[in-house]
Amino acid sequence: MTTPIPAASTAAIRDRLGRSLRDLRISITDRCNFRCVYCMPKETFGNDYQFLERAALLSFEEIARLARIFTRHGIEKVRLTGGEPLVRRNVEQLVKLLSAIPGLDLTLTTNGSLLARKAQALFEAGLHRITVSLDSLDDAVFKVMNDVDFPVAKVIEGIDAAAAAGFAPIKINMVVKRGLNEDSILPMARFFRERGHILRFIEYMDVGATNGWRMDDVVSAREIVDIISREMPLAPADPNYTGEVAERWRYKDGTGEIGVIASVTQAFCRDCTRARISTEGQLYTCLFATSGHDLRALIRGDASDDAIAAAIGRVWTARDDRYSEIRGQNTVPLKKIEMSYIGG
Ligand code: SAM
Repeated sequence: MTTPIPAASTAAIRDRLGRSLRDLRISITDRCNFRCVYCMPKETFGNDYQFLERAALLSFEEIARLARIFTRHGIEKVRLTGGEPLVRRNVEQLVKLLSAIPGLDLTLTTNGSLLARKAQALFEAGLHRITVSLDSLDDAVFKVMNDVDFPVAKVIEGIDAAAAAGFAPIKINMVVKRGLNEDSILPMARFFRERGHILRFIEYMDVGATNGWRMDDVVSAREIVDIISREMPLAPADPNYTGEVAERWRYKDGTGEIGVIASVTQAFCRDCTRARISTEGQLYTCLFATSGHDLRALIRGDASDDAIAAAIGRVWTARDDRYSEIRGQNTVPLKKIEMSYIGG
C-alpha cells in the first residue's frame, strides 16, 4: 500500500520520539537467487511469482539522486540490499555513483553467491565495506536453509575474494532459527574468529507474512552468547556509536569480537535512526511498516530536490514507529511488507 506524499515544505529532522535520521537502506532489487526458508520461501516465491518489472525499479541515477538528497537530512550511511543486490546488472556502476557522494559511508549486504566474481570490481568502484550472510558451515544445513542447493564453499570463496580485494571490515550475518541451525553457532564462531571477520548473529524475526514465524523458533541473543561463552569466554564491549544495531561482545582472550542482533528479545526501536527505500522507491520508516511513501512519483514527476527533501522531512517528523517494542500487543493482524521488497 502506498500513501502519496503531499508536495509541501519543511524538514526539521527528528521524529516524534526524538530520533534523528542517520542510516538509509536501499533495496535495489526484489529478486534473489536464494530461497531462504525464513525470507523468500519457495511456496510463495515460486516460479510463477511476479517480481517487479524493470521500469518499476529506481534507476541508478534516481537512487543516487535520492541518496544525495537524504544527506541533507544527516544521512551518514547507506546500505545497499535487496533481494540480492549483486543480481542487479552492473551494480558496480551504482556503487561508483554513490561512492562519489562526500561523507557517505557505503556498504552492502549480500548472500555472497556472486561475490567471488564481483569483489574486485565493487572495491574498485568505491565499496570498501561489506556484510555477507551465511547461516551455517554445514553444507546439508545451509542447503536446507537457502533451498537452492547452494554450497557453503562458494560463499567462503566470495568472502575470501572480498578480503583479497581489500574489503575491511567484513561482517558475516547468521540468522539463527531453532531446530534448523543452532548447532552451527559454535563452528561458525570458531571459524570466523580464526579468519578475523566479525560474525553477527541475528534473531529470527517476524518480517513479512510468508515465513510462518513463531516465537518458539527464535534463539535469543542471550542464549547465543551463553553457548559461545561456555567455550570461548566473552565480555560485553561498548557500542561503536549510539543506535548500533548489533550488541558487541569481545573474546576475553583478545582474539576478536562477535555481535548479536536481538531485534526480537531486546527491541532497539528507541535508538532506530534508519529509513528504507524499497526497490520501487517507496520510503519506509520501519522494517515492519505496512505502507510506504512514494518517492518515485516525486522524482519522476519532476519535483525539485528541495521539494523532495521537504517531503522526506515531513515523513520523518511524523514517524512514531516502534513495532518491535510493541510486538504482540496489537501487531499480529498487520499486513507487513516482505523483507526482499523493503530491503533487509
Ligand atoms: N540477499 C542479501 C543477503 O542475503 O544478505 C540481502 C538481503 S537479506 C533480506 C538481508 C539480511 O536479512 C540477511 O542477512 C538475511 O539473513 C536477513 N533476514 C532475512 N529474513 C530474516 C528474518 N526473518 N529474520 C532475521 N533476519 C532475516
